[in-house]
Amino acid sequence: MKLTPELLPELIETAVNVIDENAEEVTALDQAIGDGDHVTNLQRGLDALQKQAAEFSGLSWDGALQKTGMTLMSTMGGASGSLFGTLFVAMAKAAKGKELDWKGFADVLTAGVDAVKKRGKADVGEKTMLDVWIPVEKILQQAVQEGLSSAEILEIVSNTAVTGMESTRDMIATKGRASFMEERTKGHIDAGARTSQLMICAIIKVLENRLS
Ligand code: ADP
Ligand code: MG
Repeated sequence: MKLTPELLPELIETAVNVIDENAEEVTALDQAIGDGDHVTNLQRGLDALQKQAAEFSGLSWDGALQKTGMTLMSTMGGASGSLFGTLFVAMAKAAKGKELDWKGFADVLTAGVDAVKKRGKADVGEKTMLDVWIPVEKILQQAVQEGLSSAEILEIVSNTAVTGMESTRDMIATKGRASFMEERTKGHIDAGARTSQLMICAIIKVLENRLS
């Protein structure tokens, strides 16, 4: 499967739509254990990306990822703005001069997720977006190493994103705003984990349609 930045306008639109469709639910999640602004932060970032979408097609992968990261960082705000921004800027750095076949893309994603871990001083099990991104990055590396087909890779990554998102429900938040609520965070899914999963799964659906 050949992935090129020409896909980006469609992928951005997909992210915009899935977040709009689930905005109320995500706001309720962030209201329960945070301050309720996560969806509006993310929508601001996605809106800015959508306005530039046409320019993305003509860029190299590292150029497009860098622009994505810088745009999210400068428009989103909130903890998630700097974290999503960091994800893409670090992916851009790792993508320089690399061919983005599955192995290349897996390594680029690993670099991005490692940077988010550093930036947020967080790891798996702390009830954040990283409970989606870390298992997704790990399973992608494993699936590529095992030589799975594109269809198999997409399916396993999508399922892992859902499992990761759901795993945050029973965790106690130890990072970010939610950590102030300690035990009371139990029973609520983390908003950033949910938006990450929604976007990952929606984008995978688009890619699956391209395969068939
Ligand atoms: P804020 O918390 O500043 O209001 P948002 O509401 O936009 O920002 O984003 C909150 C989300 O950011 C959380 O749901 C969580 O997934 C993520 N998050 C917060 N702190 C961290 C961290 N240290 N590491 C990773 N993710 C984090
Ligand atoms: Mg918030």
